[in-house]
Amino acid sequence: MEILRTAKEMQTWSEKTRGAGHSLGFVPTMGALHEGHLSLIRLARAQSDHVVVSIFVNPTQFEDQEDLKKYPRDTDRDRDLCDAEGVDAVFLPTAEEMYPDGYKIDLKAPALANCLCGATRPGHFDGVVTIVQKLFKIVQPTRAFFGEKDYQQLAIIRWLVRDQNIPIEIVGAPIVREKDGLAMSSRNRRLSAEERKQALVLSRSVKAMQTLVAGGEHDVGKLLKLAKDVLHSQAGIKLDYAEIRDAVTLQTIEKVDRPALYAVAAFVGPVRLIDNCVLIRGR
Ligand code: AMP
Repeated sequence: MEILRTAKEMQTWSEKTRGAGHSLGFVPTMGALHEGHLSLIRLARAQSDHVVVSIFVNPTQFEDQEDLKKYPRDTDRDRDLCDAEGVDAVFLPTAEEMYPDGYKIDLKAPALANCLCGATRPGHFDGVVTIVQKLFKIVQPTRAFFGEKDYQQLAIIRWLVRDQNIPIEIVGAPIVREKDGLAMSSRNRRLSAEERKQALVLSRSVKAMQTLVAGGEHDVGKLLKLAKDVLHSQAGIKLDYAEIRDAVTLQTIEKVDRPALYAVAAFVGPVRLIDNCVLIRGR
């Protein structure tokens, strides 16, 4: 497995690989890898001749400097995991390599970014589209793989490739959960044992929404009231948002009569966690 640290090295490697007619699957990450990331790597393996994983904690998408400082980092273990999964190259740049002229935003995120996480993390998605666009230019993959765990991010990246005419296929992959339902996240490492238990209320609210919709409740007002009853019943949680929106446009809806996204974000102690599910899939 190659470890590539500069944009030039990565571009050269990619051009050689693509020039030989091989397809390239790309999994961008911020490291502290877990089974969620590994599921993307396995999907990329299955759909590509070669796989590149990037590990970069992107400063421009953190609006809270304390959160950036405390973000888990575990590069040696990440490298071993990538090696064991048969990854061909890991792109491991420094912040100076990615932002040689200082941390500036190149691209503004679209209106899709104004709700949900974008509403409470101002500037976050501008940082995401900036770094993803840079990574795409450097890695030049055939396909890039993103988790539905960050559902709004995936929607915005689908917009990005359309808007900027980027010739990369975007592949979304389902959320990987712990046995007890907690959505896997690098941030889970920061939870105490007590907070880890409290965090389960997010996935409990997801399950509740799925059960209620399957049982015929489609009224968004009623569903959200029940979701909030579940969420507020748990001590130690500070709810950021719990919403149901159109799964494609992310606009608010009153009835779950089309593919709809239930998305929740909450602080568990000092750690902000997110979870979601699509309530009706496919039109
Ligand atoms: P991150 O390192 O948190 O930036 O995540 C890198 C990629 O892994 C993103 O596309 C995430 O959506 C995806 N991802 C993170 N957690 C999960 C999970 N539990 N299941 C599936 N994909 C995930």
